[in-house]
Amino acid sequence: MDQIIVGVDVGGTAIKMALITPGGEMMAKTQEPTPVALGEDGILQKITSMMNQLLQKHDYTREQVLGIGVGVPGPIDAKSGVVLQAVNLHWKKPVPLIEKLSELTGLPVAVDNDANIAALGEMWRGAGQGAQDLVLITVGTGVGGGVILHGNVISGINGVGGEIGHITMTPGSGPDCNCGKTGCLETYTSATAIIREGRLAVANGTSPMLAKVLAVTGNIKAKDVLYAANAGDQAALAIVDQVGFYLGLAISHLAIVLNPAKFVIGGGVAAAGEILFSRIRASFARFIPFSYVVESTEILPAMLGNDAGVYGAGWLIRSKMDN
Ligand SMILES: [Zn+2]
Repeated sequence: MDQIIVGVDVGGTAIKMALITPGGEMMAKTQEPTPVALGEDGILQKITSMMNQLLQKHDYTREQVLGIGVGVPGPIDAKSGVVLQAVNLHWKKPVPLIEKLSELTGLPVAVDNDANIAALGEMWRGAGQGAQDLVLITVGTGVGGGVILHGNVISGINGVGGEIGHITMTPGSGPDCNCGKTGCLETYTSATAIIREGRLAVANGTSPMLAKVLAVTGNIKAKDVLYAANAGDQAALAIVDQVGFYLGLAISHLAIVLNPAKFVIGGGVAAAGEILFSRIRASFARFIPFSYVVESTEILPAMLGNDAGVYGAGWLIRSKMDN
């Protein structure tokens, strides 16, 4: 009887779910809107019904399920499996997720936060394959991260381990950050930062291409700035220079502390491609004093996109099989 793992990635807008073999092959996947208004119990019931339907549709029985791995957007007490808070799910109080979901399903449950499961997913099946030590940096609306050493996620005593977006880049100066400080990595490299700089370039009259985008669409998106940079717009290129500079600088700090084999960069901004990655690598090389570290450290785009989370959630269950 083939065994199967259920990987679940719970986001503020959608619940993604996949059936994954212990060998890492995805057999089926599905996605439904997150019923945020129904509260924690409604969301957990939704996960249960989605799972039952998916198993039935693909001819699996519950007896074949090894366990359910779940990723949620918020800090977690790893030992107890309690989600301390999940702002995007409107969970303001701690939710004992492992306890509740295993009660509902009668199956083993494991949980970690969304950034960590994305990192585990890339390690298992994506750009990090073959590496036991890697750092995932997700550059989207904000900047998140997941640190894996010897195959284990490093969360720290408060679950803040891997909050790469809030490394200070410019002490005492720089744009305001959502965390209440200024000059964090996120304030220079997130999609939000890229949009801010793009709008500034239009206001300053330095980017004819972005001015045209704004005039035609009424809006500037991060991908417009990245597109303009690829098309040779000088102001947009200067923005990508800045993003690459600060990402490379932050990666150099992390490399000195952790010296992982791979840095994997995901999120919408990573789609900029070589124009961004060449700048990240140049900045990294500039701030690393050891040439052998520069040579041995790979800085790569993430491979799994939106599937990283369900793979990593599945890995939470798969990794327990070896113990
Ligand atoms: Zn911050």
